[in-house]
Amino acid sequence: MKKMLLSLAALALIFTSCENDQNEISQEQNKVDMSDFFVYTETNENGGEQRNGLTQCYSMTNLNRLLNEDPQLYKKMYDIEYQTRSNILFKPGNGNGNGNGNGNNGGDGGDGGGGTPDNLGVITIPVYVHVIYSNSQQNISSTQINSQMNVLNDDFRATNNDVNQVPGEFSGLVADSEIQFTLAGTFRYANSTSSWGTNDAMKAAYPPVTPETHLNIWVCNIGGGILGYAQFPGGPSATDGVVVSPQYFGTTGFVSAPFDGGRTLTHEVGHYLNLRHIWGDGRCKRDDFVADTPSSDAPNYGCPSYPTVNCRSNDMTMNYMDYVNDDCMYMFSEGQKARMRTIFESGGPRAAMAN
Ligand SMILES: [Zn+2]
Repeated sequence: MKKMLLSLAALALIFTSCENDQNEISQEQNKVDMSDFFVYTETNENGGEQRNGLTQCYSMTNLNRLLNEDPQLYKKMYDIEYQTRSNILFKPGNGNGNGNGNGNNGGDGGDGGGGTPDNLGVITIPVYVHVIYSNSQQNISSTQINSQMNVLNDDFRATNNDVNQVPGEFSGLVADSEIQFTLAGTFRYANSTSSWGTNDAMKAAYPPVTPETHLNIWVCNIGGGILGYAQFPGGPSATDGVVVSPQYFGTTGFVSAPFDGGRTLTHEVGHYLNLRHIWGDGRCKRDDFVADTPSSDAPNYGCPSYPTVNCRSNDMTMNYMDYVNDDCMYMFSEGQKARMRTIFESGGPRAAMAN
């Protein structure tokens, strides 16, 4: 679908260029296909399926709640999506807009990527960590926090040791997002609350610090077996950021296998930078709005063997935006990189973070 649209757009560009008519070109550029856009999901109260008593990510349920609370949010997210698609589709020399949206017919859509056609260079995001604890175990050490920062940077810069496990089919799509993170400060708060839940109570108690320019992370016990949740770009600034339970944060100290590899935060920061779950939170025809990640109809769990076939293509189970164990996820794709970076561009929802 997207491939066809792009080809049509390219044809139209050639055609209109012959006529040397700039107006017609810009009219063609306005034809961004938004027909598959959605924000609400069927994700249930439990944030999706529980495995072994755990819910890996509550971000979509949290998004549904915010959409119900604020009738303007849908429009805001639509506009962000429109800008994202527009930027990706018409960026000069960008090969990321093409690819196997339906999973058949090749998977090389991202090979034209690899550079940063947005001219933003490497983006460094300063991070504030808010540690909220009701016991000494939850008051995690700076060593544990630093271990998490290292994983986050390795994963977003594709310098993680396990990146070489990506199978050949997808190895050409592995992306260095050229987004990195630096710890700007840690705040520690003793509080007798033992479970904070998913209604942003921790953010009301301890508001984010300069969320326009800083990624705020609350490390506190969410409860209900929930590992973490993030707020997508476009949401209220008073609750902007990511929440992770302490035992799923970092790789050393108070951590709990198999989610002791720091990948819960990598996944949640992916949402914070506008990535959807790789299966699109629906069946085969629901998409994650990224062309080079094959369609799938559900999350994968545990440590799937390759190939895992769904929707007539091999799932990119090793992508950070799936639900597999920390040891079994090790890549973002070029298409995901392009999508994340558009939010930092001029007029984008996180443009203030890129200087
Ligand atoms: Zn998620």
